[in-house]
Amino acid sequence: MTNWDIANILLQTKLLLLLRGEKELAAKYENAAYTIGILDYPANDKGIAFLPQIIQSDIQEILNTGNCEAKETLEKEIPKSLRGIANLPGMRAPDAIKLYEKLQIDSINDLKRAVSSCEIKEKKEFGIRFEEQLRRSLIEYERDFKELTLFEGYTYAKSIMMFLNKDFTIKLAGSVRRGKELVNNIDFVVAGDKEKFKKILNELISIKKTGKENQNFVSIKDKYNIILNFYFVPHEYFYSALIYFTGSKIYSKILNEIGKVKGFNISKEGYLLIEGQDEKQIFEKLGMQYTPPEIREGGEEIDLAISNSLPELIDEKDIKGDLHIHSNFSDGTNSIREIKNEASFKNYTFIAITDHSQSLKIARGVSKEKLLKEFEIIDKINMDGDEPVLLKGIEAEINMDGTLDVEMDLEKKFDIIIGALHAFSKTNYENTERVKKAIESGLINVIAHPTGRIIHVREAMPLNFDEISKAASKNRVTLEINLFPNRIDLSSGLVKEARRNGLKYFSIGTDAHNTGHLNFMEYGIKILRRSWVKREELINTFELKELREFLWNRKH
Ligand SMILES: [Zn+2]
Ligand SMILES: [Zn+2]
Repeated sequence: MTNWDIANILLQTKLLLLLRGEKELAAKYENAAYTIGILDYPANDKGIAFLPQIIQSDIQEILNTGNCEAKETLEKEIPKSLRGIANLPGMRAPDAIKLYEKLQIDSINDLKRAVSSCEIKEKKEFGIRFEEQLRRSLIEYERDFKELTLFEGYTYAKSIMMFLNKDFTIKLAGSVRRGKELVNNIDFVVAGDKEKFKKILNELISIKKTGKENQNFVSIKDKYNIILNFYFVPHEYFYSALIYFTGSKIYSKILNEIGKVKGFNISKEGYLLIEGQDEKQIFEKLGMQYTPPEIREGGEEIDLAISNSLPELIDEKDIKGDLHIHSNFSDGTNSIREIKNEASFKNYTFIAITDHSQSLKIARGVSKEKLLKEFEIIDKINMDGDEPVLLKGIEAEINMDGTLDVEMDLEKKFDIIIGALHAFSKTNYENTERVKKAIESGLINVIAHPTGRIIHVREAMPLNFDEISKAASKNRVTLEINLFPNRIDLSSGLVKEARRNGLKYFSIGTDAHNTGHLNFMEYGIKILRRSWVKREELINTFELKELREFLWNRKH
C-alpha cells in the first residue's frame, strides 16, 4: 500500500462527502490526501501524527485492510451510478448532483446519450460550455489509459520509489521527470534483479495487467489504468541509461549521435555504453555541461551545453515564499494561524494571504469589514517575529469593465494585490481589454492564472496573450505561474512567449485552499525549470525587503 493509494482512498472519501453535501469534512480529507501524497516516507502510525485523529484512524484502517469504513458506509448511501458520473475526469461534485437532480442522468450511458443528442446545452442552468466539458470528460474516460497531471505523476512515482530504493537503484525518468504538464505514463530506470523487483512491486501495487515485457523491460497497467514502465539496466551504465530514458526522443537521438562520434557504443536498448557515477560525469564524457532534466527536449539546450553556456536555472532552495494562498476568510478551509504553522516547515521568509474579493460570491469573497479583521489577525501573528512573515494580500476580481473589486480606501494597506478573472467575457477583445485595463490601472502586482484554463475542464479563455504580456512588461506587473495541479497557468510555452515580449518578472503561487495544497511548491519547481526560469526573473526569490519595494511600485 503506497501513500498514493492512501491518498486516493482519502480523495474518494472526500468526493463521497461532497456528494452528501458535507463540505467541511470533505476538505479535511482532501487536505490529508495532499499531505500524504507528497510525504517523503511511507505513511505509518508514527508518521502521520500531525493529521486529525479521525483521519489517522482511517489511514491506520487502510493500512491494515486496504479500505476504510468511512468510505464504505458512504458508498452504501450514494448510488453507484452517481458515483460513476462524479468520478469522470474534470467533473465537480455539485455538477454531478445537478445532472442527477435536474435531468435524471444517473449513469454514464445516460450522460453519453444526453451529450450526443446535445440536450444539455439547451438547458439554461448548464449551457454549451458545460456540454463541451462533458464531451471532453467522456473522451478522456473512454481512453484505455489515464492521463495524469504532473502532480499526480510526480507523487505516484515518489510513493513507489520510496519502497523500492532500499533494494534497488531506481530513478524517475521520462516525461514526469522532464516536468510535462500532462503525462500518459510514468517511466523508471532500475538496476537490480528484475524478477525480485516484480515480486515486490506486485505486493506493493494492484496490477491490472502486464503489457509488453522482455528481458530488460516491463510495462504494467495498474488498477487506476495508469501505465508504469520499468527499464532494467546494468549498474555501470545506470546514469547513461537514465539520461537516455529521460530525454525526449529527439534529445536522446542527438545525444547518441554525439556519443557515437566520441567513440562510444550503444546498447541494444538504445542507450550509450558510458560508465559514470552520476549524470554529470556522463555529460562530461560527452563534452557537455550538465543539463537539467526539465529542459532535455532536443532544442537549443544541446548547443548551449556543448558551448558551456547554459543559463543557471532556478533551484528549490531559491524560493523564499508562496504568493497565492486562501484562508478560511474566503473559500479556504484553514485559519491563517494554521497556514502560518504549516508554512513554517518550508523554509520560507514570507507568504501572502490572498483571499477572494467580495464580488466573488461563490468563493465567499471578503467584505471590507472582514478584511480589516483579517489584517488585524495578520498583524498579530506577525508580532511573533518569526518567519515566514505574512503579507496582506487579496485576489481581486477584475470586473467586466476592467475596474478592480478592491476597496480603494484599503488599497494602501495591501502588501500585494493580485488581479484575476473568474468569469470570462465572450470575445477575445473583451477579455484582453479587461485584463489590460487592470494591468494599466497601476493597482495590481500580479495577474493570477492568466489564461483561466483548467485541465480536463475548460480551455483557456479567448485572449490576446501578446498584448497582455507586453502591457504587463510595460507596467511592471508580473504574470503568475499558478501551481494548482489542474491549472499550471501559465504553461511553459506561454512563459517563454511572455519573455519574448519583454516580460522580466513572474511570480508563483500554489493557490492553496488548504494547508495540504501548500505542498504543490515541491513539484512546481519542475514547471519553472521547464520554462527556463532564472532566479532573478521570479519575485518569489527576492529578499523580503526587495520584494516589498518591488510590490510597492503600485500607484498610491
Ligand atoms: Zn483564482
Ligand atoms: Zn486563488
